[in-house]
Amino acid sequence: MKILVSACLLGIDCKYNGKNNKNDKIIELLKDHELIPVCPEIMGGLPTPRIPAEIHQNKVIAKDGKDVTKQYQKGAKETLKIAKLYNCHTAILKEKSPSCGCGKVYDGTFTGTLINGDGITARLLKEHGIKITGETTLDITE
Ligand code: SF4
Repeated sequence: MKILVSACLLGIDCKYNGKNNKNDKIIELLKDHELIPVCPEIMGGLPTPRIPAEIHQNKVIAKDGKDVTKQYQKGAKETLKIAKLYNCHTAILKEKSPSCGCGKVYDGTFTGTLINGDGITARLLKEHGIKITGETTLDITE
């Protein structure tokens, strides 16, 4: 089974602060599954490190006020291309991210407040029938 995975969960230093969100439980899945790493923010043309961003009124705004919605949309489209190329029906995505977040995301005020919602990439993958799961739920049953 081929599963799309947020690259930062596999220990790749693609997080906004130049670090990662390595998760050993997910790395262990490599024993039985083929994991396809993706980082929508990098594929959307953003640098690492980068200024953190949050979704606000359907746009993605960086902490310095810059509108980065286009880069986030581009990253989502590129991620979908990879999902289709590899025929992935499931994606394990980093929770709370404005790209990868599923179920909960920050509310756009940079105060650490979570609201119900999905990141830009998570939304697009879901719209195309790909099952999304976060790293704490980790439900990869098809
Ligand atoms: Fe991780 Fe996704 Fe953010 Fe890239 S865009 S650093 S994969 S959460």
